[in-house]
Amino acid sequence: MEATEKDILRGGQFLVKETKCEDVFTPEDFSEEQKMMKEAVQEFNEREIIAHKARFEAKDYALTEEVMKKAGQLGFLGVAVPEAYGGLDMGFVSTLLVCDYISSGTGSFSTAFGAHTGIGTMPITLYGTEEQKQKYVPKLATGEWFGSYCLTEPGAGSDANSGKTTATLSEDGKSYKINGQKMWISNAGFCHLMIVFARIEDDKNITGFIVEYDKNNPNGITLGEEEHKLGIRASSTRQVFYSDTVVPIENMLAGRGEGFKIAMNALNVGRIKLAGACLDSQRRILTTAVQYANERKQFNTPIADFGAIKYKLAEMASSAYAGESATYRAAKNIEDRIAMRQAAGNTHQEAELKGVEEYAIECSILKVAVSEDVQNCADEGIQIFGGMGFSEETPMEAAWRDARIARIYEGTNEINRMLSVGMLVKKAMKGHVDLLGPAQKVQEELMGIPSFDTPDYSELFAEEKEMVAKLKKVFLMVAGAAVQKFGPDLDKHQQLLIAASDILIEIYMAESAILRTEKNVKRFGEDAQAVQIAMAKLYLYNAVSIVEKNGKESIISFAEGDEQRMLLMGLKRFVKYANYPDIVDLRIAIAEKVKAENKYCF
Ligand SMILES: Cc1cc2nc3c(=O)[nH]c(=O)nc-3n(C[C@H](O)[C@H](O)[C@H](O)COP(=O)(O)OP(=O)(O)OC[C@H]3O[C@@H](n4cnc5c(N)ncnc54)[C@H](O)[C@@H]3O)c2cc1C
Repeated sequence: MEATEKDILRGGQFLVKETKCEDVFTPEDFSEEQKMMKEAVQEFNEREIIAHKARFEAKDYALTEEVMKKAGQLGFLGVAVPEAYGGLDMGFVSTLLVCDYISSGTGSFSTAFGAHTGIGTMPITLYGTEEQKQKYVPKLATGEWFGSYCLTEPGAGSDANSGKTTATLSEDGKSYKINGQKMWISNAGFCHLMIVFARIEDDKNITGFIVEYDKNNPNGITLGEEEHKLGIRASSTRQVFYSDTVVPIENMLAGRGEGFKIAMNALNVGRIKLAGACLDSQRRILTTAVQYANERKQFNTPIADFGAIKYKLAEMASSAYAGESATYRAAKNIEDRIAMRQAAGNTHQEAELKGVEEYAIECSILKVAVSEDVQNCADEGIQIFGGMGFSEETPMEAAWRDARIARIYEGTNEINRMLSVGMLVKKAMKGHVDLLGPAQKVQEELMGIPSFDTPDYSELFAEEKEMVAKLKKVFLMVAGAAVQKFGPDLDKHQQLLIAASDILIEIYMAESAILRTEKNVKRFGEDAQAVQIAMAKLYLYNAVSIVEKNGKESIISFAEGDEQRMLLMGLKRFVKYANYPDIVDLRIAIAEKVKAENKYCF
């Protein structure tokens, strides 16, 4: 049945509307076609990437290019691309799925794949003219050509619209000449096409161009040497210099001054895809860690039997589980919204653009949450391996180094944290998400007398769902009071924004894990989902602590006297369980399952 406007939450609305478990998509909902795709990608990952891991670590850039070509031949580069341009047009969930399972072998390939299929191709599919799409997208979708995305400059990183690269119109008005320097460009060493952002005259905003790059006829383009990096060692990363590079006017993307918009929207897609790209890495890290922990004995005991190690295994599993739950939930929302817009008469291009833009908040949330989870997982993975974890001979060392970049590119996690809250406040002001009404209700609740009724928590997750609802109140209480206090100056209070964002992130992740589990309990039964229930409860328990810490810091920072006391009392009420879960037992149950299966098995 086709989803309608009514059924699908708008981006950011998860905060103020209740989502029913039936309305979330979960990895257990993959279609037969998606399952087949997943197997094909897993097989490709084992054969072409993992089997050659050492070569990637030894900076074999040619191998990255070779494997990218093979991925193109198998159609993996064109999953998101419409059939009319040589792709498979499999929808957003499948796009995420491929990205997820192809990315865990090495961050080198994952980065090349992400840069090409996401920010290297999407600006054309999303903003290109029909001619541009016909000319370039089929080549990119099949891997005949590779794409790169040239936004960052030595002086323009997070402040992406401040670049100094210029585009000057020729006297005959037929072309632009590009001059400038780009930095940190993934795939630069083997790409045939660059999405380049440059400024025309003294325009406020940059403009996007499609620039062809032929090594034998470089058209004023020169590349710096490969950067020597902490991780993703076989991913090509170079500076790119443009000296009177001639680009025909028909290669301008969208209109003059539209480049910043293109850059931001391409990054929205990039962000959720990056979250997807961290998921299988996380599963793989846990699997490698538990296999080692089951084998390695100290004090005549497999280290997996020690409580300290069980703690780590359980935490790693539950964060991976929440990451999957939230990423596929958002992916399906995006897919449904695209379909809905197409049904309403939008072109594929318009629908996709608006569909992804709608969930920009969720894309930022996911980027931050999953990139930090995979990093923590890799760190604990090293710890489980002990001294061997520190050695290049074990996979943990590379996993840890490769994970690190995900917090930096596609917008740093600081920028994404601030964006997530900033975009939500903007949506509220535009009337797309009603934050004001619910925030006022929370205010009234704070003034009122708390209910002393004992609610009925006998149904599965009854208390957990109430906890999530209360965490939402914390966000509304903190963000509402902060908006009232600082108004348009809120963005100057970065520590507050970041704290609010951490609250927002935890709400989305915890809710997603609970809804996925609830849905699965209804169809597979409570016994079959016992460990998933434990993971959802563990994730929520941790989320509550994070929300409490950030809520408290925020309140103390901006409220004083009676107001502070009232808000802190509200916070205390909203983070209080009636029945605390036995978190130690939950961790043991999760770890025992992972140990018995000797892998991430959910
Ligand atoms: C391996 C690699 C591959 C990359 N690939 C590409 C690519 O293909 N194409 C491309 O265009 N770019 C690419 N980048 C660039 C990447 O997107 C930037 O590094 C990133 O956006 C951060 O910019 P920066 O490095 O200039 O750091 P800066 O912007 O200088 O940031 C430094 C620190 O200051 C913080 N900060 C900055 N501004 C603010 C602010 N307003 N408020 C609070 N904190 C702030 C940041 O969060 C960060 O912690 C790549 C980078 C790397 C390392």
